[in-house]
Amino acid sequence: MKLPPVEYEAPTTVAEAVDLLIAHLDEASVLAGGQSLIPLLALRLARPAVLIDINGIDELSGVSAADGQVTIGAMTREYVAEESETIADAVPLLAAALPLIGHEAIRSRGTIGGSLAHADPAAELPAVARALDAEFVVRGPSGERVIPAARWFEGYLTTSRRPDEILLEVRFPVARRGTGTSFQEVARRHGDFAIVGLATSLTLSGGAISDARLAFAGMSDVPVRAAAAEELLVGERPSAELFDEAARRATGDIDPPADLHGSPDYRKKVAAALARRGLRAAADNARERQ
Ligand SMILES: Cc1cc2nc3c(=O)[nH]c(=O)nc-3n(C[C@H](O)[C@H](O)[C@H](O)COP(=O)(O)OP(=O)(O)OC[C@H]3O[C@@H](n4cnc5c(N)ncnc54)[C@H](O)[C@@H]3O)c2cc1C
Repeated sequence: MKLPPVEYEAPTTVAEAVDLLIAHLDEASVLAGGQSLIPLLALRLARPAVLIDINGIDELSGVSAADGQVTIGAMTREYVAEESETIADAVPLLAAALPLIGHEAIRSRGTIGGSLAHADPAAELPAVARALDAEFVVRGPSGERVIPAARWFEGYLTTSRRPDEILLEVRFPVARRGTGTSFQEVARRHGDFAIVGLATSLTLSGGAISDARLAFAGMSDVPVRAAAAEELLVGERPSAELFDEAARRATGDIDPPADLHGSPDYRKKVAAALARRGLRAAADNARERQ
Protein backbone atom coordinates (compact mmCIF):
# COMPACT_ATOMS: atom_id res chain seq x y z
CA MET A 1 0.00 0.00 0.00
CA LYS A 2 1.32 3.45 -0.90
CA LEU A 3 2.01 6.08 1.74
CA PRO A 4 -0.27 9.12 1.83
CA PRO A 5 1.34 12.40 0.71
CA VAL A 6 3.48 13.81 3.52
CA GLU A 7 6.06 16.58 3.82
CA TYR A 8 9.58 15.35 4.52
CA GLU A 9 12.39 16.95 6.54
CA ALA A 10 15.84 15.47 7.16
CA PRO A 11 17.68 17.40 9.90
CA THR A 12 21.32 16.54 10.57
CA THR A 13 21.52 17.84 14.16
CA VAL A 14 19.36 17.38 17.25
CA ALA A 15 18.93 21.17 17.48
CA GLU A 16 17.42 21.26 13.95
CA ALA A 17 15.14 18.32 14.77
CA VAL A 18 13.85 20.07 17.91
CA ASP A 19 13.22 23.30 15.94
CA LEU A 20 11.16 21.29 13.43
CA LEU A 21 9.20 19.63 16.25
CA ILE A 22 8.50 23.04 17.82
CA ALA A 23 7.26 24.30 14.44
CA HIS A 24 4.97 21.34 13.70
CA LEU A 25 4.09 19.82 17.13
CA ASP A 26 1.34 17.17 16.80
CA GLU A 27 1.38 17.51 13.00
CA ALA A 28 4.86 15.90 12.90
CA SER A 29 6.11 12.36 13.36
CA VAL A 30 9.75 11.50 14.00
CA LEU A 31 10.95 8.81 11.57
CA ALA A 32 13.59 6.46 13.01
CA GLY A 33 13.85 2.92 11.60
CA GLY A 34 10.33 3.15 10.19
CA GLN A 35 9.50 -0.44 11.17
CA SER A 36 6.42 0.61 13.13
CA LEU A 37 5.70 4.07 11.71
CA ILE A 38 5.75 3.22 7.98
CA PRO A 39 3.17 0.41 8.33
CA LEU A 40 0.99 2.78 10.38
CA LEU A 41 1.21 5.39 7.60
CA ALA A 42 0.53 2.83 4.89
CA LEU A 43 -2.57 1.64 6.75
CA ARG A 44 -3.66 5.27 7.37
CA LEU A 45 -3.57 4.65 11.13
CA ALA A 46 -1.17 7.60 11.51
CA ARG A 47 -1.66 10.77 9.40
CA PRO A 48 1.18 13.20 10.19
CA ALA A 49 1.56 16.22 7.90
CA VAL A 50 5.38 16.13 8.25
CA LEU A 51 7.91 13.34 8.69
CA ILE A 52 11.08 14.38 10.52
CA ASP A 53 13.63 11.78 9.46
CA ILE A 54 16.37 11.54 12.13
CA ASN A 55 18.46 8.88 10.34
CA GLY A 56 21.04 11.54 9.36
CA ILE A 57 21.71 12.65 12.97
CA ASP A 58 24.95 10.85 13.83
CA GLU A 59 25.04 12.12 17.43
CA LEU A 60 22.00 9.95 18.23
CA SER A 61 23.79 6.61 17.71
CA GLY A 62 26.17 4.73 19.95
CA VAL A 63 26.62 2.67 23.10
CA SER A 64 28.82 3.79 26.01
CA ALA A 65 29.35 2.84 29.64
CA ALA A 66 30.25 5.20 32.51
CA ASP A 67 29.33 5.75 36.18
CA GLY A 68 27.43 2.48 36.55
CA GLN A 69 25.22 3.10 33.53
CA VAL A 70 25.13 2.02 29.91
CA THR A 71 23.87 4.79 27.65
CA ILE A 72 22.33 3.87 24.31
CA GLY A 73 21.64 6.55 21.70
CA ALA A 74 18.04 6.54 20.44
CA MET A 75 19.07 5.82 16.82
CA THR A 76 21.23 2.82 17.73
CA ARG A 77 19.90 -0.02 15.57
CA GLU A 78 18.55 -3.05 17.39
CA TYR A 79 21.09 -5.33 15.65
CA VAL A 80 23.98 -3.06 16.69
CA ALA A 81 22.85 -3.29 20.32
CA GLU A 82 22.47 -7.06 19.89
CA GLU A 83 26.11 -7.32 18.82
CA SER A 84 27.46 -4.93 21.49
CA GLU A 85 29.83 -6.56 23.98
CA THR A 86 29.22 -3.68 26.39
CA ILE A 87 25.50 -4.52 26.48
CA ALA A 88 26.14 -8.28 26.69
CA ASP A 89 28.44 -7.78 29.72
CA ALA A 90 26.70 -4.94 31.53
CA VAL A 91 22.98 -5.21 30.64
CA PRO A 92 22.46 -8.95 30.07
CA LEU A 93 18.66 -8.69 30.34
CA LEU A 94 18.60 -6.33 27.37
CA ALA A 95 21.00 -8.63 25.49
CA ALA A 96 18.63 -11.56 26.12
CA ALA A 97 15.59 -9.65 24.84
CA LEU A 98 17.03 -8.14 21.65
CA PRO A 99 17.20 -11.33 19.52
CA LEU A 100 13.50 -11.94 20.25
CA ILE A 101 12.41 -8.79 18.39
CA GLY A 102 10.85 -9.69 15.03
CA HIS A 103 13.39 -10.93 12.49
CA GLU A 104 16.92 -9.87 11.54
CA ALA A 105 15.69 -7.65 8.71
CA ILE A 106 13.53 -5.70 11.18
CA ARG A 107 16.32 -5.41 13.74
CA SER A 108 18.72 -4.15 11.08
CA ARG A 109 16.54 -1.02 10.63
CA GLY A 110 14.61 -0.79 13.91
CA THR A 111 16.13 1.34 16.65
CA ILE A 112 16.28 1.19 20.43
CA GLY A 113 14.70 4.65 20.68
CA GLY A 114 12.03 3.80 18.11
CA SER A 115 10.86 0.73 20.01
CA LEU A 116 10.78 2.59 23.33
CA ALA A 117 9.12 5.72 21.89
CA HIS A 118 6.53 3.58 20.09
CA ALA A 119 5.78 1.92 23.47
CA ASP A 120 3.95 -1.15 22.21
CA PRO A 121 2.92 -2.95 25.42
CA ALA A 122 3.64 -6.34 23.78
CA ALA A 123 7.20 -5.34 22.80
CA GLU A 124 10.27 -6.69 24.56
CA LEU A 125 12.27 -3.50 25.17
CA PRO A 126 9.61 -1.61 27.15
CA ALA A 127 9.41 -4.56 29.59
CA VAL A 128 13.21 -4.58 29.94
CA ALA A 129 13.31 -0.81 30.50
CA ARG A 130 10.57 -1.05 33.14
CA ALA A 131 12.23 -4.01 34.90
CA LEU A 132 15.59 -2.24 35.10
CA ASP A 133 14.24 1.26 35.89
CA ALA A 134 15.90 2.68 32.79
CA GLU A 135 16.04 6.46 32.34
CA PHE A 136 14.87 8.30 29.22
CA VAL A 137 16.64 11.49 28.20
CA VAL A 138 14.59 13.82 25.99
CA ARG A 139 15.41 17.27 24.60
CA GLY A 140 12.87 19.99 23.89
CA PRO A 141 12.67 23.80 23.72
CA SER A 142 13.71 24.23 27.36
CA GLY A 143 16.61 21.77 27.29
CA GLU A 144 16.94 18.18 28.47
CA ARG A 145 14.92 16.26 31.03
CA VAL A 146 15.36 12.76 32.38
CA ILE A 147 12.23 10.60 32.75
CA PRO A 148 12.27 7.35 34.77
CA ALA A 149 10.74 4.29 33.08
CA ALA A 150 7.95 4.23 35.69
CA ARG A 151 6.74 7.59 34.28
CA TRP A 152 7.70 7.07 30.60
CA PHE A 153 5.00 4.55 29.66
CA GLU A 154 1.64 6.31 30.06
CA GLY A 155 -0.77 4.12 28.07
CA TYR A 156 -1.21 2.17 24.85
CA LEU A 157 1.45 3.48 22.40
CA THR A 158 1.69 6.60 24.59
CA THR A 159 4.67 7.99 26.47
CA SER A 160 5.29 11.12 28.52
CA ARG A 161 7.39 12.62 25.68
CA ARG A 162 5.89 15.95 24.66
CA PRO A 163 5.27 16.68 20.96
CA ASP A 164 8.15 19.18 20.91
CA GLU A 165 10.65 16.75 22.45
CA ILE A 166 12.95 14.18 20.85
CA LEU A 167 14.18 11.07 22.64
CA LEU A 168 17.98 11.38 22.76
CA GLU A 169 19.15 8.31 24.68
CA VAL A 170 18.18 5.66 27.18
CA ARG A 171 20.29 4.78 30.23
CA PHE A 172 20.32 1.31 31.77
CA PRO A 173 22.00 0.45 35.10
CA VAL A 174 24.99 -1.90 34.93
CA ALA A 175 24.00 -5.30 36.38
CA ARG A 176 25.48 -5.90 39.81
CA ARG A 177 27.66 -8.93 40.56
CA GLY A 178 25.50 -11.98 41.26
CA THR A 179 22.69 -10.75 39.00
CA GLY A 180 21.04 -13.33 36.78
CA THR A 181 18.53 -12.48 34.06
CA SER A 182 16.09 -14.13 31.71
CA PHE A 183 13.62 -12.98 29.05
CA GLN A 184 10.80 -15.46 28.47
CA GLU A 185 7.94 -15.15 26.02
CA VAL A 186 5.18 -17.05 24.28
CA ALA A 187 4.42 -16.07 20.67
CA ARG A 188 2.46 -17.87 17.96
CA ARG A 189 5.46 -18.07 15.63
CA HIS A 190 9.12 -17.16 15.92
CA GLY A 191 9.43 -13.42 15.22
CA ASP A 192 5.84 -12.54 16.10
CA PHE A 193 5.05 -10.09 18.85
CA ALA A 194 4.74 -11.92 22.18
CA ILE A 195 1.29 -12.81 23.51
CA VAL A 196 2.91 -12.54 26.94
CA GLY A 197 6.56 -11.76 27.71
CA LEU A 198 8.45 -11.49 30.98
CA ALA A 199 11.72 -9.74 31.83
CA THR A 200 13.25 -11.17 35.01
CA SER A 201 16.31 -10.07 36.98
CA LEU A 202 17.41 -11.61 40.30
CA THR A 203 20.47 -10.65 42.34
CA LEU A 204 21.86 -13.18 44.80
CA SER A 205 24.01 -12.15 47.78
CA GLY A 206 25.26 -14.89 50.10
CA GLY A 207 22.69 -17.32 48.67
CA ALA A 208 19.67 -15.06 49.30
CA ILE A 209 17.81 -12.84 46.84
CA SER A 210 18.78 -9.22 47.45
CA ASP A 211 17.01 -7.71 44.43
CA ALA A 212 14.13 -9.04 42.31
CA ARG A 213 12.58 -7.48 39.23
CA LEU A 214 9.82 -8.86 37.05
CA ALA A 215 8.11 -6.88 34.27
CA PHE A 216 5.45 -8.30 31.95
CA ALA A 217 4.78 -7.45 28.31
CA GLY A 218 1.33 -8.10 26.86
CA MET A 219 -0.54 -8.02 30.18
CA SER A 220 -1.75 -4.41 30.13
CA ASP A 221 -1.62 -1.27 27.99
CA VAL A 222 1.84 -0.57 29.49
CA PRO A 223 4.62 -2.89 30.68
CA VAL A 224 3.83 -3.87 34.29
CA ARG A 225 6.06 -4.71 37.27
CA ALA A 226 4.97 -7.64 39.46
CA ALA A 227 5.51 -5.73 42.71
CA ALA A 228 3.88 -8.28 45.05
CA ALA A 229 6.09 -11.08 43.71
CA GLU A 230 9.22 -8.92 43.96
CA GLU A 231 8.41 -8.11 47.58
CA LEU A 232 7.94 -11.79 48.43
CA LEU A 233 11.25 -12.80 46.82
CA VAL A 234 13.61 -10.31 48.44
CA GLY A 235 15.43 -11.77 51.46
CA GLU A 236 14.48 -15.38 50.59
CA ARG A 237 16.58 -18.22 49.26
CA PRO A 238 15.63 -19.46 45.76
CA SER A 239 13.46 -22.61 45.82
CA ALA A 240 10.75 -24.21 43.68
CA GLU A 241 8.11 -23.47 46.38
CA LEU A 242 9.13 -19.82 46.60
CA PHE A 243 8.98 -19.42 42.82
CA ASP A 244 5.53 -21.11 42.69
CA GLU A 245 4.18 -18.64 45.24
CA ALA A 246 5.88 -15.70 43.47
CA ALA A 247 4.27 -16.77 40.18
CA ARG A 248 0.84 -16.79 41.88
CA ARG A 249 1.39 -13.32 43.34
CA ALA A 250 2.86 -11.98 40.07
CA THR A 251 -0.45 -12.43 38.29
CA GLY A 252 -2.81 -11.89 41.24
CA ASP A 253 -3.63 -8.23 40.70
CA ILE A 254 -3.18 -7.92 36.92
CA ASP A 255 -6.25 -7.66 34.70
CA PRO A 256 -4.94 -8.53 31.22
CA PRO A 257 -6.72 -7.60 27.97
CA ALA A 258 -8.66 -10.00 25.75
CA ASP A 259 -7.89 -10.03 22.04
CA LEU A 260 -7.56 -12.38 19.06
CA HIS A 261 -4.55 -14.05 20.67
CA GLY A 262 -5.98 -14.97 24.04
CA SER A 263 -8.50 -14.39 26.81
CA PRO A 264 -7.51 -12.70 30.09
CA ASP A 265 -7.55 -16.10 31.80
CA TYR A 266 -5.26 -17.66 29.18
CA ARG A 267 -2.86 -14.73 29.50
CA LYS A 268 -2.76 -15.11 33.30
CA LYS A 269 -1.97 -18.82 33.02
CA VAL A 270 0.80 -18.13 30.51
CA ALA A 271 2.16 -15.32 32.69
CA ALA A 272 2.33 -17.57 35.77
CA ALA A 273 4.14 -20.27 33.79
CA LEU A 274 6.59 -17.68 32.43
CA ALA A 275 7.19 -16.36 35.96
CA ARG A 276 8.16 -19.82 37.24
CA ARG A 277 10.34 -20.44 34.19
CA GLY A 278 11.90 -16.97 34.27
CA LEU A 279 12.70 -17.11 37.98
CA ARG A 280 14.34 -20.53 37.65
CA ALA A 281 16.42 -19.41 34.67
CA ALA A 282 17.43 -16.11 36.31
CA ALA A 283 18.44 -17.88 39.56
CA ASP A 284 20.58 -20.41 37.63
CA ASN A 285 22.14 -17.57 35.68
CA ALA A 286 22.82 -15.59 38.91
CA ARG A 287 24.68 -18.55 40.45
CA GLU A 288 26.88 -18.72 37.34
CA ARG A 289 27.70 -15.01 37.60
CA GLN A 290 28.69 -14.99 41.31
C1 LIG B 1 7.01 -7.63 10.88
C2 LIG B 1 7.44 -6.90 12.13
C3 LIG B 1 7.61 -7.61 13.30
C4 LIG B 1 8.00 -6.96 14.47
N1 LIG B 1 8.15 -7.70 15.61
C5 LIG B 1 8.50 -7.08 16.74
C6 LIG B 1 8.65 -7.82 17.96
O1 LIG B 1 8.51 -9.05 18.00
N2 LIG B 1 8.99 -7.13 19.07
C7 LIG B 1 9.17 -5.76 19.06
O2 LIG B 1 9.47 -5.19 20.11
N3 LIG B 1 9.05 -5.06 17.94
C8 LIG B 1 8.72 -5.68 16.78
N4 LIG B 1 8.60 -4.93 15.65
C9 LIG B 1 8.79 -3.47 15.72
C10 LIG B 1 10.26 -3.09 15.64
O3 LIG B 1 10.98 -3.43 16.82
C11 LIG B 1 10.41 -1.60 15.43
O4 LIG B 1 11.68 -1.38 14.97
C12 LIG B 1 10.21 -0.68 16.61
O5 LIG B 1 9.00 -0.88 17.26
C13 LIG B 1 10.21 0.76 16.15
O6 LIG B 1 11.49 1.17 15.92
P1 LIG B 1 11.82 2.05 14.66
O7 LIG B 1 13.22 2.55 14.84
O8 LIG B 1 11.53 1.31 13.41
O9 LIG B 1 10.84 3.29 14.86
P2 LIG B 1 9.79 4.05 13.88
O10 LIG B 1 8.87 3.06 13.27
O11 LIG B 1 10.55 4.92 12.95
O12 LIG B 1 9.06 4.93 14.96
C14 LIG B 1 8.19 4.38 15.91
C15 LIG B 1 7.55 5.50 16.74
O13 LIG B 1 8.51 6.08 17.61
C16 LIG B 1 8.67 7.47 17.33
N5 LIG B 1 10.11 7.76 17.47
C17 LIG B 1 11.11 6.98 16.98
N6 LIG B 1 12.30 7.47 17.38
C18 LIG B 1 12.04 8.57 18.13
C19 LIG B 1 12.87 9.51 18.81
N7 LIG B 1 14.19 9.40 18.84
N8 LIG B 1 12.26 10.51 19.49
C20 LIG B 1 10.90 10.62 19.49
N9 LIG B 1 10.08 9.76 18.85
C21 LIG B 1 10.65 8.76 18.18
C22 LIG B 1 8.14 7.66 15.92
O14 LIG B 1 7.69 8.98 15.71
C23 LIG B 1 7.01 6.65 15.89
O15 LIG B 1 5.88 7.18 16.53
C24 LIG B 1 8.23 -5.56 14.46
C25 LIG B 1 8.08 -4.84 13.27
C26 LIG B 1 7.68 -5.49 12.11
C27 LIG B 1 7.52 -4.69 10.85
